[in-house]
Amino acid sequence: MLSASHKDQNILHIILNAPTTANMLFMTTGGLCYFYPNFYHAGIAIQSHSGNLVPYDKKLGCAGEVTDEFEMQRDMSFLNRTCDDLCPTFWHHVQEKHWRLSVNWNVEDSVTKVFHDIDVEWRLNRECTNSECPHCFMVMSQNFECAGASNRDDVKFLPSEIWYHKPPFVQLIKGIFYGGQCHQPFLVPIPVKDGIDSPPTLDDLDINYWVKQYKLYECHSIALNQLLSRMSSMTGSKETFHGSILVIKQTRHVPNLIVNMTKQDQLVANFLILSALHYHILTDA
Ligand SMILES: [Zn+2]
Repeated sequence: MLSASHKDQNILHIILNAPTTANMLFMTTGGLCYFYPNFYHAGIAIQSHSGNLVPYDKKLGCAGEVTDEFEMQRDMSFLNRTCDDLCPTFWHHVQEKHWRLSVNWNVEDSVTKVFHDIDVEWRLNRECTNSECPHCFMVMSQNFECAGASNRDDVKFLPSEIWYHKPPFVQLIKGIFYGGQCHQPFLVPIPVKDGIDSPPTLDDLDINYWVKQYKLYECHSIALNQLLSRMSSMTGSKETFHGSILVIKQTRHVPNLIVNMTKQDQLVANFLILSALHYHILTDA
């Protein structure tokens, strides 16, 4: 039962990290909402990554307590086919309405208000263990583990790792990479995360091949960006910048639509980066 959530934190992070899909449910005074409604109605509960941490002999969430009718599944193997968009490794955004079902009885405190203007993503698991699925860990473990790029060798090596990724990425977007140890910017391919077949948003890009998205707290140890410092010095500035930068282009005409960058965009990108450096707008990679 949800009364109020902490400022700057979202209750959905807790709901969506529940040990099973049957526990991904919450209520306000005005309504009730649950995720994975199809599984819920079929009486099936899928174990999540936090459920994997619960010892075998311990209770898994509260689904079993409410009713014994839930059939527990450790993964999607019970489908006896590929997972498709149910693959536990795929990221979902709370704005995708088909992953949840809401019942409201009081419009004043409607449960759907919780979803207003928030940016929360989740996935059920880091690995898929359904052997029928092309994203099964047996296949995925053959792929290169990306840890960010910095120099020209990385720029030469990473695109082939991206092309030969298994299963092949369905969508690739071109961006411009300003590697910390590079002598010039490069046009590079950026994969769109698995499971996204519509035009991608910024959240859908797997930028970790080029820049480390999730390790901002380590920024203090990231080396000086020699390329940007040199570009900046050419304009007579003494500004410096740490870490690498990946520039992505969105079009004005269709809001938020990401389009490929071209060599011609590079001058504009250089100008914008140097202006941002000058006004201290860029604070991280
Ligand atoms: Zn799968």
